[in-house]
Amino acid sequence: MSDVVTPKIQKTDQEWRELLTPDQYRILRQAGTERAFTGPFWNSHEKGLYSCAACHEPLFVSDTKFDSGCGWPSYFEAVNPEAITEIRDTSHGMVRTEVRCSNCGGHLGHVFPDGPPPTGLRYCINGHAMDFEAMK
Ligand SMILES: [Zn+2]
Repeated sequence: MSDVVTPKIQKTDQEWRELLTPDQYRILRQAGTERAFTGPFWNSHEKGLYSCAACHEPLFVSDTKFDSGCGWPSYFEAVNPEAITEIRDTSHGMVRTEVRCSNCGGHLGHVFPDGPPPTGLRYCINGHAMDFEAMK
């Protein structure tokens, strides 16, 4: 779909299938979306670090998570700009910005320009695309 960025981690489709749960595979490798309010983390307020479910690279920290009401975990900023790759997505008759893990190329969700300060962005991320590690 895009040759903008070559992910550092390259696996075959079969390898990803074996590594991921069916939900994770459908979202991360097939750009799927979990139904709102059904995935993990959307209603979580725990302090910690969210990482890519496929390659375990850190993506978001709980300090940037906010209650968007959309039914998916939402953040106003990534843990660092290099952690994610943003790609113009014109599927489903909409112009959106897709968010992928820079390390493995896995689909995470989309970013919208209707978030809170300081960035004004809303990273709307599938919970199944992430793992969470609580901070002590
Ligand atoms: Zn990844």
